[in-house]
Amino acid sequence: MIIVQSISKLNAEIEALKSARKTIGFVPTMGALHKGHIELVSRSVKENNCSVVSIFVNPTQFNNPVDLEKYPRDLNRDIELLDKAGCDIIFAPEAKEMYNSEELNNNFEFDFGGLDKVMEGQFRPGHFNGVVQIVSKLFKLVQPDKAYFGEKDFQQLSIIHRMVDVLNFRVEIIDCPIVREESGLAMSSRNERLTATQRKKAVEISKVLFESRNFVPKLSPGELKNWVLEKINAVDELEVEYFEIVYATTLQTIDKWTTPAVGCVAVFCGEVRLIDNIRYK
Ligand code: AMP
Repeated sequence: MIIVQSISKLNAEIEALKSARKTIGFVPTMGALHKGHIELVSRSVKENNCSVVSIFVNPTQFNNPVDLEKYPRDLNRDIELLDKAGCDIIFAPEAKEMYNSEELNNNFEFDFGGLDKVMEGQFRPGHFNGVVQIVSKLFKLVQPDKAYFGEKDFQQLSIIHRMVDVLNFRVEIIDCPIVREESGLAMSSRNERLTATQRKKAVEISKVLFESRNFVPKLSPGELKNWVLEKINAVDELEVEYFEIVYATTLQTIDKWTTPAVGCVAVFCGEVRLIDNIRYK
């Protein structure tokens, strides 16, 4: 496994792989890796000749400077985990390698077709502009045959599919299921910021989501939304930012049960913002 920090070195590596007609699998991450990330990497290792993992805490997708500052970072541990998982190339650039000052200070423009107006997009203005900005740059550099993304970030995945479609990237996007802890809590780098007590409380998020499935289709999506809001908000230290039951492709809220329907939630556990989602139909 090699660790690359500069674009010029990455270009040389990718050119060599392309001339040798090797297939490239790519997993973009922000580091502080856990089993959820490693699932994506293992799948890439199985399905491609060479796997590239990027580790880059992308400043342009953080609308909250405190969240950016407190985002967990542990490059040495990440390197160890990726080596074990069979990764071939880690790309871990500094922000100045990826962006000039104009790019850092202005919102990247992209036609989201409305996918950025709801849920994460509504509560984290500019977030998806930053996501598309960095993922499109990384796709141009890495030129992957396949790229692996987690369904944990359900809205992000829809936006990545649209980005590939609109910008004509020649890459296959592989959707990977959410990896959870035994307790049901969706794995997230941000879980590291929870205290032991908060972690126990955060388990209630997935518990309520799983339980909510039992009420489909007896309760309407609107009624189920209220039930989920009440149940999660009743837990001390948990505060729901949004919970929406949406049509999986358009991300528009539904008022009658249709397939595929997904419930997406963002919850503050103390100061830490967690997201999760569940498929209903
Ligand atoms: P991040 O480092 O949080 O930007 O995540 C990098 C990739 O890993 C994204 O495609 C995420 O959706 C995915 N990911 C993060 N957590 C999980 C999880 N618990 N299960 C599956 N995929 C995940």
